[in-house]
Amino acid sequence: MLTDKYNRTHNYLRISLTDNCNLRCFYCMPEEDYKFAPSSKLMQADEIEAIAGTFVKLGVNKIRLTGGEPLVRKDADKIIRSVAKFPVTLTLTTNGTRLHEFTGVLRDANIKSINVSLDTLDPEKFNLITRRNNFERVWQNIHLLIEEGIHVKVNVVAMKGLNDNEILDFIKWTKDTPVHVRFIEFMPFSGNKWTSNKVLTWQQILQIIETEYSFLPLRGEANDTAKKYIVPGHAGTFAIISTMTSPFCSTCNRMRLTADGKMKNCLFSKDEMDLLTAFRAGEDIEMLIRQSVSNKAKELGGQFSGNFEDLHSEEIENRSMIAIGG
Ligand code: SAM
Ligand code: SF4
Repeated sequence: MLTDKYNRTHNYLRISLTDNCNLRCFYCMPEEDYKFAPSSKLMQADEIEAIAGTFVKLGVNKIRLTGGEPLVRKDADKIIRSVAKFPVTLTLTTNGTRLHEFTGVLRDANIKSINVSLDTLDPEKFNLITRRNNFERVWQNIHLLIEEGIHVKVNVVAMKGLNDNEILDFIKWTKDTPVHVRFIEFMPFSGNKWTSNKVLTWQQILQIIETEYSFLPLRGEANDTAKKYIVPGHAGTFAIISTMTSPFCSTCNRMRLTADGKMKNCLFSKDEMDLLTAFRAGEDIEMLIRQSVSNKAKELGGQFSGNFEDLHSEEIENRSMIAIGG
């Protein structure tokens, strides 16, 4: 078991397969010339399997593959199959553009739930946010997953002046479509020009929804990051991930592995543990994993706390989101 000094048990590992992506979401990928890590610096498929296996031995029972865009990696299929052999709940966060090429492996890997990112229901706005013209493909692929019987969680980064005027459209979508829409408060990362006045808060999102819908809270599970709700009678549900206004650090069970094999004990940690170099040198990574967990800060990587409105993003030392793995 991986327990830290605040008595939090860590059983959930998020593995980034690549820092590469076929979209260019402005809040995730820095605008200035971003250099993708060369493939030799990335964990190779057999290294991912071995390192993930060590985490499983230490008590991990849930693994999420993410990125960058995990499905642009050429050997994504092989990696999904290899990780699926572990006794874990396996899941994926994807931008949805390539899902139609992976239905077979998703079925074989027994993946029951997938997070797909979609910040707008307007194709033109999709182009502005992602700088690519893929709305229709993502939209079709979300429905393809539903037809396949896979639970779809739609990640929406909620931002003032960007998509606050679409919150009600997303709720309307849940009327007849069994999707779980998750509004995520905009978070600060290196190069993403975060300012507090762009954050659409949990309370503000609920206030918008209240203007047209009555809704009820749903009971959460331990370690949930999302506050869940349902509009009675709707086929789908919605949730808010309130990292900025009400973080959920006290029940955090998550660890991250970047595509270049560095362990991060928190999304906001500035310290990283280089597992890949140690693994390649034949060192004992079990000890390094334990050490990283035991060094975990009480909240938000020890980098900020309190009122997000007082936060200056340039004071936070971290990678960009695309290089961490969301
Ligand atoms: N490419 C995949 C995707 O888009 O789902 C996986 C990686 S992406 C980094 C994971 C999630 O992080 C996405 O849902 C994305 O919207 C979210 N994300 C990225 N930058 C963010 C930010 N600054 N604040 C909040 N969420 C962010
Ligand atoms: Fe790519 Fe996902 Fe980041 Fe968008 S959010 S740039 S799809 S990694």
